[in-house]
Amino acid sequence: MASKRSYSGSCQCGNITFSAELVLGELVACNCSRCRRVGHLLAYLPESDFQVTIGEAGMSEYRFNTGRIAHRFCPVCGIQPYAAGTAPDGTPSIAVNARCLDGVDLDALPIKRCDGASY
Ligand SMILES: [Zn+2]
Repeated sequence: MASKRSYSGSCQCGNITFSAELVLGELVACNCSRCRRVGHLLAYLPESDFQVTIGEAGMSEYRFNTGRIAHRFCPVCGIQPYAAGTAPDGTPSIAVNARCLDGVDLDALPIKRCDGASY
């Protein structure tokens, strides 16, 4: 199995920066009411492997539907770098927006469609 790599990332304006340790493989494109509008490509990792390095206090948060997922975005530039929630096994988890990661060739990664609209 591939080993985890450390990635840095940010919103557009740099108000929020973060680091994430993960194996970047298949990305998820979801068609729920939010994801289809935002257009992010998601990668999942445990919250313990994710750290906001700048901007934790200045972030905005949006919750919808069950309210279990905290969608965190920059109030300055409007970009959503990640969402925080809980994995099915109860582990606090992060869905990072791979489009916000530095130095990643998104076109080289496979994309899996997730039918979030039907949940
Ligand atoms: Zn920003």
